Amino acid sequence: MGFDVLILGGGVAGLKTAEYLQDDCRVAVLEEDIVTGGLAFQLGCKATSECLYCGVCRALSVKRKEPGFSVFLGRTIREIRKQGGTFLLTTDRETLEGRFLVVATGVAPFDARELPNLGWKKFPNIYTGFELETGLNGGVLQKLAHCRRIAFVQCVGSRNFKEKRGYCSQVCCRYALRLSEDLLSLYPQLEIDFYYMDLQIIGKKTEKLWETRQKIRLVRKIPFEAKEKGGKIFLTLEGSHGEESEGYDAVILSVGMVPSPGTQKIGEMLQLDFTPEGFIRNYGEGVTSQEGIFVCGTACGPGDIEASLHSAWEVSQKVRKEMRRAQP
Ligand SMILES: Cc1cc2nc3c(=O)[nH]c(=O)nc-3n(C[C@H](O)[C@H](O)[C@H](O)COP(=O)(O)OP(=O)(O)OC[C@H]3O[C@@H](n4cnc5c(N)ncnc54)[C@H](O)[C@@H]3O)c2cc1C
Ligand code: SF4
Ligand code: SF4
Repeated sequence: MGFDVLILGGGVAGLKTAEYLQDDCRVAVLEEDIVTGGLAFQLGCKATSECLYCGVCRALSVKRKEPGFSVFLGRTIREIRKQGGTFLLTTDRETLEGRFLVVATGVAPFDARELPNLGWKKFPNIYTGFELETGLNGGVLQKLAHCRRIAFVQCVGSRNFKEKRGYCSQVCCRYALRLSEDLLSLYPQLEIDFYYMDLQIIGKKTEKLWETRQKIRLVRKIPFEAKEKGGKIFLTLEGSHGEESEGYDAVILSVGMVPSPGTQKIGEMLQLDFTPEGFIRNYGEGVTSQEGIFVCGTACGPGDIEASLHSAWEVSQKVRKEMRRAQP
């Protein structure tokens, strides 16, 4: 089967790139999952009595459109090689041909078990921000109904130079503040302590988050250990007179983003350049170190849904330009 563009990864970035290109060329999206949408489709709407501008419904609008491109779901990409000016991509079920490749294999939430001191999966009542996000319609949220004191711990898995994750994940301050707002509107009895390094409240329509900031206790320190005692979680942090400990009914770890295993696998398969943090290096407009191969969305670095959609626009423009240039 021959296409002009093969897009690897059907998250919001891959789908939107396909949508932008579908009128000019034959496009196929290959997705390893059995559904498209990626991480953004697992996130929840954080509206309280008003919209909190989390961007998740912008992602949903991408999927709702009738696709004018081919979608191959549940595919494992086994091999990609170049023959003349064409890429031959072999999956577990077929071989597809394409003149250009767009890598949109995205990110994964940081696995908080890599920081065992923080107690995720070891003690009850410690959740990740991703668990809270995906459980917005019940689940974890209901479990917090009877809590009085909870803590958010920011920068979990990000801004850690020792672990080669010195970057800021960009979304976690905002999602944690929005989740704080959700929790306070549902359970007004809650007292929220917010442990942070630096508050990244960037982006449009963030006024509400500045208001939320006033309703919580901001502590500019990051706890390094969580322990459970008598049904409470105790966080240990460096105080001015040595170690201090604070007790909570529940703790939320605001996990950031890491390159997805697919980003690593496809990047290596295509011999692309990586950043020191393991994202695919973008030399501008999605251009990678290999001719005819582009990178889109969070596969080349952390970002929110809006940034991923913008990147889809930029990359589709560049691919279109390259296609015109390549025409005899
Ligand atoms: C905890 C958390 C909370 C967040 N909250 C928000 C928020 O409130 N608002 C916001 O705007 N953003 C938020 N984000 C960011 C948002 O999830 C991303 O911006 C968005 O998902 C990026 O889209 P993407 O298409 O680049 O990547 P992804 O969503 O990761 O999609 C990549 C796709 O590629 C597929 N894939 C991977 N490897 C392969 C392979 N080898 N072959 C084929 N397919 C493959 C995956 O299955 C997936 O479908 C959050 C992120 C996290 C981690
Ligand atoms: S932007 Fe977010 S909070 Fe607002 S309606 Fe959409 S999903 Fe809900
Ligand atoms: S967005 Fe906030 S919590 Fe996330 S890495 Fe950046 S500073 Fe830390």
